[in-house]
Amino acid sequence: MVSQNRLIEEFMELVQIDSETKQERVIADVLTEKLIALGFTVVEDESAAKTGHGAGNLIATLAPNTEQPFPKIFFTTHMDTVKPGIGIQPVMDEQGWISSAGETILGADDKAGVAALFEMARVLSEQNIPHGQIQFVITAGEESGLMGARAMDSSLLDAEFGYALDCNGAVGTIAVAAPTQARVVMEIYGKSAHAGVNPEDGISAIQVAGKAISRMKLGRIDHETTANIGKFEGGGATNVVCDYARLEAEARSLVHEKVVTQLEAMQASLESTCADFGAKAHFQSVIVYPGYKFTADDEVVALAQRASANLGLPNDIFHTGGGSDANIFNGMGVPTANLAVGYEHIHTTSERIHRDDLINAARLVIEIVQETAKVKA
Ligand code: ZN
Ligand code: CA
Repeated sequence: MVSQNRLIEEFMELVQIDSETKQERVIADVLTEKLIALGFTVVEDESAAKTGHGAGNLIATLAPNTEQPFPKIFFTTHMDTVKPGIGIQPVMDEQGWISSAGETILGADDKAGVAALFEMARVLSEQNIPHGQIQFVITAGEESGLMGARAMDSSLLDAEFGYALDCNGAVGTIAVAAPTQARVVMEIYGKSAHAGVNPEDGISAIQVAGKAISRMKLGRIDHETTANIGKFEGGGATNVVCDYARLEAEARSLVHEKVVTQLEAMQASLESTCADFGAKAHFQSVIVYPGYKFTADDEVVALAQRASANLGLPNDIFHTGGGSDANIFNGMGVPTANLAVGYEHIHTTSERIHRDDLINAARLVIEIVQETAKVKA
């Protein structure tokens, strides 16, 4: 049985430890100590040297407590928060809603995930629930663009499948798809000239950019693909034909090939427009993280759905438009679905979570471990 008071207390304790992204040192040390006390072997990877964050990722491994060949499973949450996350004072109202008392976020994103996992580990041990190898991967730098997970040595991840606890929605529901995201930089090199004396000798990078953009399909491309130009820079004095413009954009899709197609279309529009005007184009794109897309037929989803149903929780599956560490771990080849934790209004000072959601999140991960024990390794 989940100890509700113990879980809520630990959650309250964790959110009061400042851990804004990049400043993860203190929380990483606290979590390491707790994990060791829970019987885990903890490795902090070398990623901090690459990311410049306060800590690396914690890869904590709990050995099996049975000879039976249960599948290896992992769970992931992140230790960092967004700002403002210094001096968080959590309060619970009479209805059981936990929020911050002041001008800060709460940090349920993702300390709720951490607290649920720690409670799970305690219950497994207290009740001698048979389990195979369980890893907790608690990342740093999730909020700064999945920096920690992206820099993690994938050989440290030792699981057949797993779950992130980092998604809004009713506890029990499961995000089974998230988009591939690409970042794009487009540069246009025109030619300067005096705008009043001899504009015909110039090539306006701004005008070329405008034409190129008008030839691009942007916004919602289809039901699973989007593209957006988020930044435009260029120009100076009004009496100079602008010779340089720079655009920053993104494209996302639940289908990787559709991102590639969108990027090709954007590049083609840019290059053909530049050619029409005699400007030079420079197009650069990078896949920031890969997407994933499961269905209810995939075991990683079906198992979580069974666990939710066993507890009488809703077990709907849904697609999310945002990225999470689950994207990175899927990219490492380990099927990872993202479980809803029940937190609301994250990344704002109105962030909150209901105590029942915390409790159900802990019950759910325990149930998942028990369902995993029914699966053949
Ligand atoms: Zn999060
Ligand atoms: Ca977040």
